[in-house]
Amino acid sequence: MSLRIHYLNGGYCRHLLASIDGRTLRMVKSHAVFLAIEHPELGWIVCDTGYGTRFFEATRGWPYRLYRWATPVSLRGTAASALAAIGVRPDDVRHVIVTHFHADHIGGLGEFTRARIYYHEEALAPLVAGTPFQQTRAAFLPALVPAGLSARSTVIAAKNFAEDVALPFPTYDLFSDGRLKLVVLPGHAPGQVGLEFTSDGVRTLYCADAFWRMEQIVAGVNLPRPVLALQWDGAAYRVTIEKLRELARRKTHRLLACHDEETQRYVTA
Ligand SMILES: [Zn+2]
Repeated sequence: MSLRIHYLNGGYCRHLLASIDGRTLRMVKSHAVFLAIEHPELGWIVCDTGYGTRFFEATRGWPYRLYRWATPVSLRGTAASALAAIGVRPDDVRHVIVTHFHADHIGGLGEFTRARIYYHEEALAPLVAGTPFQQTRAAFLPALVPAGLSARSTVIAAKNFAEDVALPFPTYDLFSDGRLKLVVLPGHAPGQVGLEFTSDGVRTLYCADAFWRMEQIVAGVNLPRPVLALQWDGAAYRVTIEKLRELARRKTHRLLACHDEETQRYVTA
């Protein structure tokens, strides 16, 4: 039996399309999609959590308030309320994968009190080490990191990711059953990972925020320079995009990204 993947919306922000293509003066919605994965033996696994409901509280202080001004956010409710639509409670979830620690991916993390949390070893430490201004610039809100996280985290060392013939990125077989691989996708955020899985017979690479919109991959659109400069590592981001373009040409995987409008086609709640 293979995995069943449910795509859920966890709030959204609005931004000018020009922030991606450098020219289109149209406001678009950027949904914070997260995944509920039904594993035949391990039960429910969640990947990212959306904005949750604590975003406004976490951006009340200075300078974190700048984040709120830069991207006007509409919250949709808790991660639990999105999961309820598919009959799942946070306490049913025993494993949570964090692709990266941006606010729109970890806002609901505190709801999963019975889950083990998985992330790349470089994903959190450089953000925690930053000054409040550096954290704000890096879209990191420390108030969204649940207390006691490290005690129930499995942090995956960079050296455990290995070359993979199927992908131009190193991968790590998370539960050693070949069903769910973490994929290193450098550039957008420190230690960002995506997921590779097969669901409904379709081999998929879920890229989190390695790209935002499909035109970056299939139409050669490059981020404007000031937006590229906001990525954690702009040079690595560009290399990742080039590799994803090459992968798209091979047509071996369906490529999906968290905030891309095309992903909305698969969203159930
Ligand atoms: Zn992000």
